[in-house]
Order: sequence, then structure tokens, then C-alpha cells
Amino acid sequence: MTTASPHHEAKPVALITGGGTGIGRAIGNALAADGYNLAIASRSAEHLAAGAAELRGRGARVLEIPTDVRMPDQVDRAIEAIRAEFGRLDVLVNNAAGNFLAPAERITPNGWRAVVGIVLDGTFFCSRAAFPLLRRSPSPSIVNIVAAYAWMAGPGTAHSAAAKAGVVALTRSLAVEWARYGIRVNAVSPGPVRTDGTDQQLWVSDTIVEAVTKGVPLGRFGTPEEIAEAVRFLVSSRASYITGDVISVDGGQWLGRGIMPLLENAFPDPGPPKE
Ligand code: NAP
Repeated sequence: MTTASPHHEAKPVALITGGGTGIGRAIGNALAADGYNLAIASRSAEHLAAGAAELRGRGARVLEIPTDVRMPDQVDRAIEAIRAEFGRLDVLVNNAAGNFLAPAERITPNGWRAVVGIVLDGTFFCSRAAFPLLRRSPSPSIVNIVAAYAWMAGPGTAHSAAAKAGVVALTRSLAVEWARYGIRVNAVSPGPVRTDGTDQQLWVSDTIVEAVTKGVPLGRFGTPEEIAEAVRFLVSSRASYITGDVISVDGGQWLGRGIMPLLENAFPDPGPPKE
């Protein structure tokens, strides 16, 4: 963290929680390409250093801020570091998350608190701490990364599903409350995406990957870059009238779930069209 006296950056600044890895890093790359300077915040200094090196390669100034988003005092310090370094904050992407597969009856209170703490508490703590700086931005916005099981069911991930559903409700509440300050608040709901983190926590076997792929109408996992494109759009002036909404970037997963196998049985793939 820096203690330099604040100066006002000409370039807009985005804070991405969990910005050192996976989808968060891809969001950073996309925003760097659009001329943002970046602050990335998560627990691991190694994750942050690796992400920052890549983002600097894209021409962004990058501030790495070791932070556990469950801890409000750490979050406050992270925002203060951004104020000191850049003097402004225009975009907050609440992307940090923790998750693990477990039947609901085996989720311990500590496991529950860890997931809900990162996803739901962390999103609120970061949003409230960022508010004073966002309020001064000419085009402020927040994007929360959620998941389709916020409105479907999340068998095996009840903690994360409950937390993400809370984040959807928070997205809508803040969108309405903070509209008067011009702060737009939206969410992006990714379908299945293979990242180092989720390969360890969710996509842990070929059987799971195969079953999940079958439930996606477009028939494949998404990429971090495909998720990042939606965030890039939502924070841009092209989305200046969009607030309180959720964009699904999921290959049709949540619409098609349960229906796909039926469709395959009723109408087998006829193969390529005949001339
Ligand atoms: P990931 O690489 O594991 O990203 C999670 C990030 O959160 C990491 O950078 C991690 O960094 C950070 N983090 C974890 N605990 C934290 C804490 N207490 N404080 C601050 N940061 C913390 O996984 P991902 O796939 O890119 O996930 C990114 C987002 O997409 C998440 O919100 C996830 O729920 C959502 N999503 C992903 C998928 C998918 O299939 N990949 C599907 C739907 C939704 P540290 O370890 O350094 O703390």
C-alpha cells in the first residue's frame, strides 16, 4: 500500500475484488484495454502479483491491495489506499468469492460463514466503503458477479446460492437508492467457466464437467473473456440507462436447465442440413 499524497488521475479507476485470478483478471484486462487504471484486492499476495504483472503489460497503472473482503476495516483501508494513490474511483467490480461443493447437511457453520461472508458481506462492505469516492466520479458504476443458481437452485452449493441471491437483491436495492447519485448498479451472471479456482472447487471431475456441459444449450463452458465483455459493456457509457439489472452470460444455462435432455430425446440432432 502507498502513503503518497493523492493526486487526481485523468484516467478512470476500477477496483476489482479477486482481480488477480480467473474471471477477475480477465475483467481487469478488458478494462485496461478501455483505458482504466486498476486496483485489485484479494487475500493472496501471489495472486495479486501475478494478476498485476499481466495488467501492467496492458498499459494500466495497477495497485495491489492485500484485503480480506470479509473484514470491514481492511476494506476501508483498501479504499483509502485507492484514494491516496489515484484520488478517484469510478468502477467497483465485486467479483471475489469462495465456494466448495458439499451437501447442505454437511456445511458447517464456519463453512457457511466463510462463503456468505466473502460473497454477501464482502459485496456490501466494498460497496459502502467505495460510495464516497464513487459519488464524486462523473460516471460511477458497480458490477456484482453473481451466478444463475441465485434464482435456480444450487444443489451442492446452498451457501453460495443463498449468498448470490442476496447479492442480486442488494444489486437492485442499491441501484434504486444510489440512482440519485448517478451510481449505476448491475450484475453479471456467468455460466460455467473453467478457472484455476473453480477447477479445484467445482469442476472437480470429468463426470461433473460432462453433466454441466449437457445442461448448457450452447453446449460448452464459457471463457473468462466472455464474462469480462459484459462487465466492460455495463460500466461503459453504452450502458448509461441500465441499472438494477442482471445480464446472464451463460450459454442459456439457466433457461435450458432440465429441458435440454428432454429436447435431445424428443428431437435428436438431425446433423448438418442436406443440400
Ligand atoms: P477464482 O479465480 O477462484 O476467483 C475468486 C477470487 O476471489 C480469487 O481471486 C480470490 O483471491 C478472491 N477471494 C477469495 N476469498 C477472498 C476474500 N476473503 N477476500 C478477498 N478476495 C477473496 O474463481 P473465478 O471462477 O474467477 O470466480 C470469479 C467470480 O465468478 C466469483 O464471484 C464466482 O462466484 C463467479 N462465478 C464463477 C463461475 C465459474 O464457473 N467459474 C460461475 C458462476 C459465477 P485470493 O485467493 O487471493 O483471496
